Amino acid sequence: MSATDVTRTQVGIVGAGPAGLVLGHLLHLQGIESVILEDRDRAYVEGRVRAGVLEQGTVDLLIEMGVGERLKREGLVHHGVELRFGGKGHRIPFDELTGGRGITIYGQQEVVKDLIGARLEAEAPLLFEVDDVRPAGIESDSPVLRFRHEGEERELRCEVVAGCDGYHGVCRSAVPDGAFSYRERTYPFGWLGILAEVEPSSEELIYCHHDRGFALHSMRSPEVTRLYLQCEPDEDIERWPDERIWEELHTRFTCEGWSLKEGPIVEKGVTPMRSFVSEPMQHGRLFLAGDAVHIVPATGAKGLNLAVADVRVLAEALVRWFSAGDETLLENYSETCLPRVWKAQHFAWWMTSMFHRMPDDRDGFTARLQRAELEYVCSSKAAATTLAENYVGLELEDV
Ligand SMILES: Cc1cc2nc3c(=O)[nH]c(=O)nc-3n(C[C@H](O)[C@H](O)[C@H](O)COP(=O)(O)OP(=O)(O)OC[C@H]3O[C@@H](n4cnc5c(N)ncnc54)[C@H](O)[C@@H]3O)c2cc1C
Repeated sequence: MSATDVTRTQVGIVGAGPAGLVLGHLLHLQGIESVILEDRDRAYVEGRVRAGVLEQGTVDLLIEMGVGERLKREGLVHHGVELRFGGKGHRIPFDELTGGRGITIYGQQEVVKDLIGARLEAEAPLLFEVDDVRPAGIESDSPVLRFRHEGEERELRCEVVAGCDGYHGVCRSAVPDGAFSYRERTYPFGWLGILAEVEPSSEELIYCHHDRGFALHSMRSPEVTRLYLQCEPDEDIERWPDERIWEELHTRFTCEGWSLKEGPIVEKGVTPMRSFVSEPMQHGRLFLAGDAVHIVPATGAKGLNLAVADVRVLAEALVRWFSAGDETLLENYSETCLPRVWKAQHFAWWMTSMFHRMPDDRDGFTARLQRAELEYVCSSKAAATTLAENYVGLELEDV
């Protein structure tokens, strides 16, 4: 039977981002059927440039799942990060402070490519370019996903629906009014991000606090640099020709004995900064994971990692339920995930508050506090350890 003919499955997964694809593969490895419905085409999903920092726990899981071969070959392992302010750099050594842990730089689109490859190789159903997905009956024992595919109206009967369809997806809104509480902050700035075809100017990431605003130096490979500038939340990208971007980056990253390498800009975009959490993360037979249920500002590099942590918990709960009929883990899904979600929210909010220029800071009071905090983080082992252990990711067992 081809993927297009399937009308019934155990787990209907909406969204082929990191959350949906990791969930699908974890379930496949345990012999549980799923169908993944994705509204974009394969090339779009595989080319979508977003996150790039993988926590140790995410890397370990991808390797355990058998999708880490290319990640092990091509991922760049980092054992520290630079915090730059007042024109000087200060290194936070992750390995020394966290018992040898680190992060791996490997683009989200590469993770997605590896997972799609594994899904197709396993001949497990994954439908691209589906339209108008409508979850129904989530309070019953047999929820349904209705959608259109290749011009035809389709219906997929499921035992459980996993909403992995990101912040703008449809699953969260299938829940009756009042069943979820939403908590949210929007920040008065965004990030202008570029990809440049040039060797990174530093081996490790640089988080830069500057009077003109935050800047971040990151990378995707030894040949591709990722750079970000704090900008207006509704910034018009047309106002930023390449020369202006480079000029601003040079100004913010100024540091004696260091220079920023320039190369052709191959991608530009503006990302808003938002914190959002829905509680709980489940209703009836619908379980939400990843950006569908929480958003973190990118400063903490937690979005993708949180999505993976959620579905790891969800997969284990579903396996227990399908194989042993034990519903306990599934009932406790939100309770298990939310402490980690809120710790990651706090870390992302803390990093965001410490590094960004605040538009309403007329007398510079907040800037002085930020500087004091950065100096403290770089001089106190306890404070540096707080940053390091959160950045590399709290142990999955600890939260
Ligand atoms: C522009 C942008 C830049 C980012 N940059 C960073 C960064 O630099 N660092 C960082 O840590 N994090 C970053 N993030 C966050 C990180 O990428 C996300 O946390 C991560 O993608 C979450 O994975 P997910 O699978 O939950 O959701 P997503 O990756 O959003 O996947 C959801 C999937 O569902 C599909 N979908 C949506 N609606 C429907 C529907 N109705 N029917 C079917 N399919 C649907 C989407 O096409 C998508 O494939 C960024 C996010 C965005 C939006």
